[in-house]
Amino acid sequence: MEYPKREGNKTLEGECVAIDDNGKGIVRLNGQTLFVDNLLPSEKAELEVETYKDEISAIKVKRRFNDSPLRVKPLCPYYQECGGCSLMHLSYQGQLEYKRDKVKNLLHKFAKIDFEPSPTLGMASPYRFRNKVQVPIRLVKGQVVSGFFKENTHQIVPLEDCLIETEEAEKILKGIKKLLTKYHIPPYDEDKGRGLIRHILIKESLHFKETMVVLVTSNRDFYGKVNLAKEIVKMFPEVTTVVQNINTRHTNVILGEQEDVLFGSGKIKDSIFNLSFLISSRSFYQTNPLQTEVLYKTALDQAGLTGQEEVLDAYSGTGTIGLCASIKAKKVLGVEIEPSAVRDARLNAKMNKIPNAEFIQADCTTYLLENKEKAHFDVVFMDPPRKGSTPEFLLALKEIKPKKIIYISCNPVTLARDLADLKDTYDLVSVTPVDMFPQTSHVETVVSLKLR
Ligand code: SAH
Repeated sequence: MEYPKREGNKTLEGECVAIDDNGKGIVRLNGQTLFVDNLLPSEKAELEVETYKDEISAIKVKRRFNDSPLRVKPLCPYYQECGGCSLMHLSYQGQLEYKRDKVKNLLHKFAKIDFEPSPTLGMASPYRFRNKVQVPIRLVKGQVVSGFFKENTHQIVPLEDCLIETEEAEKILKGIKKLLTKYHIPPYDEDKGRGLIRHILIKESLHFKETMVVLVTSNRDFYGKVNLAKEIVKMFPEVTTVVQNINTRHTNVILGEQEDVLFGSGKIKDSIFNLSFLISSRSFYQTNPLQTEVLYKTALDQAGLTGQEEVLDAYSGTGTIGLCASIKAKKVLGVEIEPSAVRDARLNAKMNKIPNAEFIQADCTTYLLENKEKAHFDVVFMDPPRKGSTPEFLLALKEIKPKKIIYISCNPVTLARDLADLKDTYDLVSVTPVDMFPQTSHVETVVSLKLR
């Protein structure tokens, strides 16, 4: 294959004036705005700019002339190549302030709302916090490796230790790779469409020391799979269940639809505020368990439930927010689209002996449109995925008129867009960024709204 020819590299000098929404430094030069990795406000640098057909195709810092007082040395040796932790060069305090500013600016930009968010609620120790590891497995020079894909390629870069994942998960991952080598179980090769193990997913419970291993395979049949599962459990007694997920498609989506439980129950149990939750491989569960309690406490405090309220938990996942709220509410209805998450939510209600929470499987918008005439809710929690909610859902909410809406968002852009739809009927009471994703530019936000 012939690659397009480079038109040449230009070297320019510039100063970073701000950090953009993705964690890149913004440099303004000759009427152009450049977005540069690993550059902080007030830092001046020599930049190598590659162009192709008059468009900038890549920018690199060739030399930095000064360091921002907020610059720290990234602890991870893969930091630059991996790109997953795009803010590791910024002090943690700097990260928290950046996230607050980001929410404030996006509310202004997309909702014309000028509101001062509270300081971002951060972690005491912003490393090794994730309870979920998900890595591709490939064969590189005869070795079974896990790692990350180089930007815009299918080329894997082996990664031995990721600093936001737990040490326990890293050990389990290493052990499984050894077993795959020992039993000659081939990793997947997407070019040739051969091989078996595509990904390994590990989910850990912080409170119960239960761990789930999911082997994502390209084929249902694989010889010795139950024995492999037993060996994993023997090696790591904290692994309480092993699941095979089958993904035969040629796709970037990690999990397939079909699953076989190879060992244990196919679920693990975790707890939030003394309630227990069952989690299966496919259902959504917050990935930073220490901050989940901070997030939910913020949401529940803002709701100020007294025991009399009828509550909607929209986009309810495994029912975590609704069940935590049910203790202080008259009744709770959870609506969630993913069937396995709804099954988990119902089990969770039963396991915690919660009689006043019900969960239904539906698209939130369809549900609300079909039920808005008879629906009555005093408080609505809504926690949609990154793409946010829909105009129809928000319009239906304005017709139902709950006294309070607590919007929990993992994407401030869609949050702002949705708040623009609500702001003619609801007033903002508080905006609280919560750091669920340290070292990255992502931010979670709890917004509390009151009916005008
Ligand atoms: N509140 C939960 C889950 C939040 S994640 C928690 O804190 O754990 C968002 C959830 O919305 C996911 O479980 C996803 O399956 C669900 N979802 C996505 N689109 C949906 C839709 N259109 N209707 C209902 N649920 C949806």
